[in-house]
Parts: sequence; C-alpha cells; structure tokens
Amino acid sequence: MRLSPRHPRYRSLRVRERLAKAHRTGVVVPEGLIAHGRGEAFDYLLGERTSPSARRAERAAAEWLLAARRPVVSVNGNVAALAAPEVARLAAAVPGLAVEVNLFHRTGPRARAIARRLEEAGVRRVLGVHPTARIPGLPSDRARVDRDGIYRSDVCLVPLEDGDRAGALRAVGKRVISIDLNPLSRTSLTADLPIVDELSRALGSIAREARRLRRSGRKARLLPFDADGALASALVTIDRRLMRAAARRPRRARPRARAWRPRSRGTTGRTRRRP
Ligand code: ATP
Ligand code: MG
Repeated sequence: MRLSPRHPRYRSLRVRERLAKAHRTGVVVPEGLIAHGRGEAFDYLLGERTSPSARRAERAAAEWLLAARRPVVSVNGNVAALAAPEVARLAAAVPGLAVEVNLFHRTGPRARAIARRLEEAGVRRVLGVHPTARIPGLPSDRARVDRDGIYRSDVCLVPLEDGDRAGALRAVGKRVISIDLNPLSRTSLTADLPIVDELSRALGSIAREARRLRRSGRKARLLPFDADGALASALVTIDRRLMRAAARRPRRARPRARAWRPRSRGTTGRTRRRP
C-alpha cells in the first residue's frame, strides 16, 4: 500500500509497515507486533513526545552508561526493526558499550538475522548470537546471555524488556535502565532507572546526552535516580491529558448523541422496535 505523507498518522503507519516487513523476514515475532500496539497506545496517551521527566531520565541514563565499567544494551527483534541505526549511534557515543542480541523467542536464524541488521546499521561487534552463560532465576531460553556482555555487565539498558527478566537482572546485582512507554508495566516498576518514552526518541536522546557529557569533560557518575518519581510523573502527564480531553469532549459529542436518541421506550425499558 502507498502511504500519503499527508495522512495524519503517516509516521505511525510507516513504523507499522516497517514492523510488518520485519515480521515477514523473521526478525519480529507476532508477539512483538502486539507489544508494539500496547506501546503505541501509551504513546498516544503521553502525547507522542518526550516529556521533561523522560528527558531527565535519559540524561541520567547517559551518565550511568558512561560511568559504568561494563555497560550493555540488550536488543530484541522489535528494537532491531525499529531502531538499529539509533543503537549504532548509541554504541558510538558510549565507549565500551556492548551490544547483545537477547531474545524472548530465540531461534538461531532469528538471532543471526537481528545481528546482521545491527551490523548493517554500523554496530561493529554484536554479542549474544551464541550465548555462553545463563542468568539464574529464569526458565528456558530466556536465561541465555553472553559471558562478555550481559553476564559480566554492571549497567544494563533493556529497551522493551519483560518484567521477569528485568527482575532477574536486578537480582544478580545489575543496575537496570528500561525504555518502556508503559509506566505501569512490571519492567518499568522493576527498573532502577525507568525511561517512559518511545524507543527511537529515547535512544537518540541518550546518545545526544552522552556526547554532550563527554564534550563537557565532566566525569560521569552513577548518581542516585528517583525511579518512583519518574513513573509518577508519567502517570500525571497521562492524567492531565485525559482530563483535558474529557473537558473538551461534550462540545463535539452532543450533536451526534441527539441524532440517534430513541423516540419512545417500552415497559421493559428497551427501545421499542418500529413495525
Ligand atoms: P511486563 O513488563 O509487565 O512484564 P511485558 O514486557 O510482558 O510486560 P509486553 O507488551 O510484551 O509486556 O512488552 C512490551 C512493552 O514495551 C510494553 O509495555 C509496551 O508499552 C512497550 N513498548 C512497545 N513498543 C514500544 C516502543 N516503540 N517504545 C517504547 N516502549 C514500547
Ligand atoms: Mg515489559
């Protein structure tokens, strides 16, 4: 289908098209398409832009990644399909950042396809295609990681992660930075530093902040982060937007509601049918 750039949802439709294509090539699983829908819904509620609170979280994330001894970013199918160039730019902005393929639904060909996509976008070394270690406390394939990547890392950036794995990483002492548009997800609730923002916006912003911090010459530090405050702020943003939308609604909705109001009611309270 040809999309017109004038369509009001052009960007979103383009992204969907890209994901559907990535699904056909085996990079994205059907579950990933559903997860994207959930993300889109929250982005809608958040106004489809980076909030000041998310921006602060992204600045803190850049600082944590630069201060880490062994930082790593975990990449799944959706992340590779939606933001491979942003991952490459982040890897260029944060020296020593390991890039690891980490999949909920793992198959060899899928892991290789994702690694290829990252390499084509400019990532020099991709870990996790042949996992060499396990994270304790997780069943089956979801525990498999690379010894030189997630296993030995101290700070893990996990975009679009599931709650169990975020929890298992924390349980073995890693600092977890999440990117997840849903401030109520278990991942956001578990992370030490939850970023409630859209994936590409968040990765781009972390890379920019990292470059800025390096240029400033200031030494990066693992500063404390108010995770609960960041999540509360995202919920307040959603709440305000919904309240504003609710206040606007009656003006538009009233004429339509009148048009189909039933003319009379039967004794059961149901609308009486015309003969
Ligand atoms: P939990 O974290 O509670 O275990 P989950 O991880 O199993 O939930 P999924 O829907 O599988 O839930 O995970 C996908 C998460 O990623 C959702 O919370 C969704 O809001 C978020 N998400 C999807 N697409 C994007 C995107 N492009 N940018 C940021 N977040 C996104
Ligand atoms: Mg999650």
